[in-house]
Amino acid sequence: MKQTHDIIIIGRGIAGVVLSETLHVMGKRAVVFDVPKANAASPAAAGIVNPVAMRRIIASWRAAELLELAEPFYRSLEREYGQVLWHPLPLVRLFANEREAQDWPQRMRDPEVGPFLSDGALPGFDADKFNAPHGYGVVKRCAWLDVEAMREAHRSKWTAMNALVEHEVLPTDMLITEDGVEVFGCSAPWIVWCNGPFATLPGLVPTRGEVMTLHLPELATEAMVHRNGFLLPVGNNNYKLGSTFAWADVWSGPSESGREELLRKLMNLTPGPSPKERGNGGEVTAGVRPASRDRRPLLGQVAPHQAVFNGLGSRGVLLAPWCAQHLAAHLFNAAPLDPEVDQARFATG
Ligand SMILES: Cc1cc2nc3c(=O)[nH]c(=O)nc-3n(C[C@H](O)[C@H](O)[C@H](O)COP(=O)(O)OP(=O)(O)OC[C@H]3O[C@@H](n4cnc5c(N)ncnc54)[C@H](O)[C@@H]3O)c2cc1C
Repeated sequence: MKQTHDIIIIGRGIAGVVLSETLHVMGKRAVVFDVPKANAASPAAAGIVNPVAMRRIIASWRAAELLELAEPFYRSLEREYGQVLWHPLPLVRLFANEREAQDWPQRMRDPEVGPFLSDGALPGFDADKFNAPHGYGVVKRCAWLDVEAMREAHRSKWTAMNALVEHEVLPTDMLITEDGVEVFGCSAPWIVWCNGPFATLPGLVPTRGEVMTLHLPELATEAMVHRNGFLLPVGNNNYKLGSTFAWADVWSGPSESGREELLRKLMNLTPGPSPKERGNGGEVTAGVRPASRDRRPLLGQVAPHQAVFNGLGSRGVLLAPWCAQHLAAHLFNAAPLDPEVDQARFATG
């Protein structure tokens, strides 16, 4: 029997947006179902792309390979949507102590992370506006992706294409046939669950996070600044301050303890005049990250005609284009899944 689509996608966070656009370019007929849910990850995402894991100053998982794909992917979306989404900007790491300052040149010699690091003064960056008694280093090739602008443009395009249905899909709404899946009048050989932290999936560890949006005209900086938290300039003297991590009580939304933790981060990053007062005006957004136990994506087939695209954790922007391409090649061209991202590593163990 002829099917209406090649693929049905459930969820329109970063995973669903990037997968649907990847498949569209491949000429596949996709339909996306999504209903907005409180605590979804993508509306809270700051949108930072950073190839370096900041705690140990090592390259994040497959950083160079993922970046190679991510920038051209989001640039092509910019052309498609007629809108700037990808904003390259350096990240300034304020050294917490003398030892960190001395370690930096050593990290620069590391073959994996070294190409992303530099030292010396960053032109235009006024270190006096920050707490930088031990100096700073710079992470290159970082960017800010305007996730909300991307999701909004995706909504307009897919609505116009008649390929977005704003409706919840529950497992009980699916009819599995020999050839594929049927959902509310749409049929396809594949359904892919891109439902992020709302999925019930072995290995998935939902993690709450909060960010604050602040207006700080006195900072006037065009770099992202990091030390035990980040300040990200997002235009018009607005900044995102983040972020918190909590593994308990993850669905409770913005919390007072989260706000306080964010204000402590602000005080750590900038000297007065009164960071607490500045921070009190900020708006806190909470979301739940779809993290996995080993911090790798969760991709692949979970049942006949059903697959998942999940586990993007705290690096969804950087991971999604690579994951979408990898999953698409697996579903449509029978390419083997990389065992490091195959969800079966938890399902079977
Ligand atoms: C505070 C915070 C800051 C972050 N900062 C960054 C950052 O700077 N950089 C970065 O790369 N990542 C960041 N992340 C992580 C990033 O947000 C996630 O990796 C990413 O958003 C996950 O996207 P997703 O599509 O898997 O899930 P989600 O964004 O949660 O999307 C799931 C979608 O599915 C919908 N849905 C769920 N169930 C159903 C159903 N049954 N039927 C229909 N629709 C359904 C939901 O409403 C939602 O729209 C941050 C996360 C948080 C919480």
